[in-house]
Amino acid sequence: MAGIYIHIPFCKSRCCYCDFYSGTDESRMDAFVEALCAEARTRQSEVGETVMTVYFGGGTPSRLRQEHFDRIFDTLHSLFTIDPAAEITLEANPDDLSESYVRMLSRLPVNRLSVGVQSFDDGELVFLHRRHSSRQAEDAVKRCREYGFDNISIDLMYGLPPQTEASWQRSLSRAVALDPQHISAYHLIYEEKTRMYRLLQAGKIAATDENVSLAMFARLIDCLTAHGYVHYEISAFGKEGCFSRHNSAYWKNTKYLGLGPSAHSFDGNSRSFNVASLTRYIDGRPPLRETEHLSAGEKYNEAVLTGLRTVWGIDLADIKVHFGDELHRYCLRNARKYLDRRLLETDNNSLKLTRDGLFISDSIMSDLMWVADRR
Ligand code: SF4
Repeated sequence: MAGIYIHIPFCKSRCCYCDFYSGTDESRMDAFVEALCAEARTRQSEVGETVMTVYFGGGTPSRLRQEHFDRIFDTLHSLFTIDPAAEITLEANPDDLSESYVRMLSRLPVNRLSVGVQSFDDGELVFLHRRHSSRQAEDAVKRCREYGFDNISIDLMYGLPPQTEASWQRSLSRAVALDPQHISAYHLIYEEKTRMYRLLQAGKIAATDENVSLAMFARLIDCLTAHGYVHYEISAFGKEGCFSRHNSAYWKNTKYLGLGPSAHSFDGNSRSFNVASLTRYIDGRPPLRETEHLSAGEKYNEAVLTGLRTVWGIDLADIKVHFGDELHRYCLRNARKYLDRRLLETDNNSLKLTRDGLFISDSIMSDLMWVADRR
C-alpha cells in the first residue's frame, strides 16, 4: 500500500502556536501548484504500488481553488494508479467552508474532511489566533454533511493556558454532539519560534499544570469512548470503520511519498525531507531534499514509537523477524518492569500500553528504545 501526502504551504493568517511550514502570501499559489505537479512527475517512479490514500495537509489546503484541485488531481491520475476506493483527505479550516466552497469540494474526488476546529470556546479560539468562532465551526461541519461528506474528522486542542477542565468538557460535549466519524485531540506543545513559546518564555502565560493536563486527557478518553469512539492511537479516536487510513499507514511504517515544501517521505529504508522554502521549491533551487538512511536501530526505534502509540501495539514476531533476536530480547527485557506494573500488556504476541500506561507513554517509549550503551 502506498500513500501520498501533499503539503499546501498557505494560510490566510498564522495561528500563534503553530510551527508547520506555511506563509500568508498567496500570490504564488498558481506557481506552487505547477511546481507541485512537476515534483510529482519527477518522483513518479518512487511509487511502485497502487495508491490507497492521498492526504492534503498544510498549511491550509482549503485555501486552494477549484482550478488548483483540478490540476493536481489530473496530474496524480495521469502519473499514479489510485485505487477507486482510496481515502482522499483534505484538511480544511472552518472559515473557508462556505456553502459555495463545500459544494465545489463535494464535486472533487475528496471523500474525507479533517476540520481544524481546535476548541468550541470562543475565548480560547481568540487566544489561539484562530479565524473562526465556535458557531462557524459547528455550521461548517453540518454544511459538509449536508453536501454528502460522511467521513468527517475534527481536530481539538487541550492543555491551553486559558482552558479549564470545565471548558474542555464543554468542547468535548459540543464535538460529540456534532457526531463526526473521527476526532483527533492534541495537547498544546510550545514549539520554539512560535509566538506562544515567546509568551511563555516572557512569563506572560503559564503552562498548564501537569496534573490538569492528565485530568484533561482522562476526560478526553472517558468522554469519547463513552460516545462510541475507539481510542485507536494516543491522539486519535474513530468510530468503527472510520479510522484514518492515511495516518494508520504512517503508524504501521508504510511507505509514502510527500510532495510540497517541507513534506517528508518514507521508502521503507530512508526518510527524505523537502526544503521548507516556497521560493526555493518553486524556483527549483537545489538541494530540494535531504535524505537520511535509517540504521537497524533507528528503524527498531520507529517501530517501538509508532507501534506503542496505537491499539495494535508492537508486533513482537515482527520485531524478531526484522531486527533479530538481540533487539527482540532487548525489547522484552526493558518492557518487563512495565508489564509487572500493568502499564504494558501482551495480547496476541503484541506489546501494548494499558490505559494506565497511556498516561506515561513517553517514558515507556524512551525506555524501550534502542540505546547502544544500554544493551
Ligand atoms: S494551525 Fe493550521 S491554519 Fe493555523 S497557522 Fe498552522 S497550518 Fe495555518
